[in-house]
Amino acid sequence: MTPQEKQWHVFDAEGRERKIVADQTLAEQLADNLNGVVIMTIPHQVILVDHVPSCNFCSEPGEYDFPTRMGPWANGCEKHWIQYRTSAKLGTGMGQKWVQRPKYHGN
Ligand SMILES: [Zn+2]
Repeated sequence: MTPQEKQWHVFDAEGRERKIVADQTLAEQLADNLNGVVIMTIPHQVILVDHVPSCNFCSEPGEYDFPTRMGPWANGCEKHWIQYRTSAKLGTGMGQKWVQRPKYHGN
């Protein structure tokens, strides 16, 4: 297993991904200059996606994609992830947390 390094994605004001850096402070400075946002990811654990689906157990956003104690994989909110998960860890085979990519609204 390789160590899972946090990455900070810098998006500009139009929602364009401009840079990926390994330093949170630098990412926040870059985002400030762009009036943009920063989103942190971790390879195989915290993943950027275009759309976070609803929880399979309630109507909240289901940001966790994970194998349930019942067997099948599901999308779950934090509450239902904690309730039905097989592992508190994220990673390949254990589950991922999905974070929604900013919507692109430039020209
Ligand atoms: Zn739920």
